[in-house]
Amino acid sequence: MPPFSLVTDYRCAVRAALLRVSLAGCEYPAYDGDMTLAHIADNPPSQGWDLHCHTVFSDGRQTPADMVREACALGLHGVAITDHDTTAGWNDAATAATEYGLHLVRGTEVTADADGVSVHMLAYQYDPHNCEISGLFAKLRRARLERTKRMVELISKDYPITWDDVLAQIREGDETTVGRPHIADALVAAGAYPDRSAAFNGAVGSRSPYYIPTPSPDAADVVRAVKQAGGVSVIAHAGDPSRNAVLLSDDQIGQLIDAGLDGLEVWHRGNPPQQRRRLLDIASRHHLLITGGSDWHGQGGKPNRLGENLTDDETVRSIVERGAIPLI
Ligand code: AMP
Ligand code: FE
Ligand code: FE
Ligand code: ZN
Repeated sequence: MPPFSLVTDYRCAVRAALLRVSLAGCEYPAYDGDMTLAHIADNPPSQGWDLHCHTVFSDGRQTPADMVREACALGLHGVAITDHDTTAGWNDAATAATEYGLHLVRGTEVTADADGVSVHMLAYQYDPHNCEISGLFAKLRRARLERTKRMVELISKDYPITWDDVLAQIREGDETTVGRPHIADALVAAGAYPDRSAAFNGAVGSRSPYYIPTPSPDAADVVRAVKQAGGVSVIAHAGDPSRNAVLLSDDQIGQLIDAGLDGLEVWHRGNPPQQRRRLLDIASRHHLLITGGSDWHGQGGKPNRLGENLTDDETVRSIVERGAIPLI
């Protein structure tokens, strides 16, 4: 299949037709063209690629194969797997993408820090064998595990969960990047909350007395590490006021641009209209890539729907051209 063929592979088209039938009427709605905040002046793309998705290899609730199958059924041009601090799901995603004839961008979301502001970096198409970046992610996963255990020690004083209950929520064993969502799932299983989001508004939320921040590398160091590994870095949901009391300033984004930042994720449900305009303005002044993604975490993960925000073909072409590994 030639890269960037806009003609969906026939295997994908046939499966898409079958899946549309099988998904019809089920709880999971097919993408209906109703883009988040589509009315703003610079409209997000109405078709293209979902470049921000999580699976069971981090805090998503569905497999990479589910992600590919559903992206195919929605008629997306392609999808990116971006589990937190890992490449562990890349192989399964690639196998499914090849089987379904859907393009796959390979990526990772990294929780970083810029002078006390929590920054999520999306790293695409980097060389997974690069020692610096694979070592960094291994270190972050170990630190996440210790931090999650410590939070569970605190929470278990007041809620009926143990570390084993949290382990029971982890689908891929040592290959899963562990975090607060797995604690949330254990609390839901114990009947303490109705769903994951409710747990995030309670015991696992960042304002709860049990909260311990996850150890995070400096965002500029992450940008440099991604570049050194031949990848492309994009700041995820930089304008989302619900996750940060204080957002990254223009100057702080400027420092990341100086470090080699490639783009900004503008099309994300967390970025309100005025933040989208700010980010678009920064992107146009600095010739940055403008991306979009759903931040899908699967059924029961987050309400975000696969394909609700998209990236256009040209931008994906630039990401692939800049990256170290081929598009699948
Ligand atoms: P952690 O990285 O361990 O601090 O946990 C924060 C992560 O929880 C973020 O990556 C969120 O995407 C994720 N998350 C998953 N489901 C939810 C949810 N329902 N509400 C809030 N955050 C969620
Ligand atoms: Fe997440
Ligand atoms: Fe994020
Ligand atoms: Zn994410």
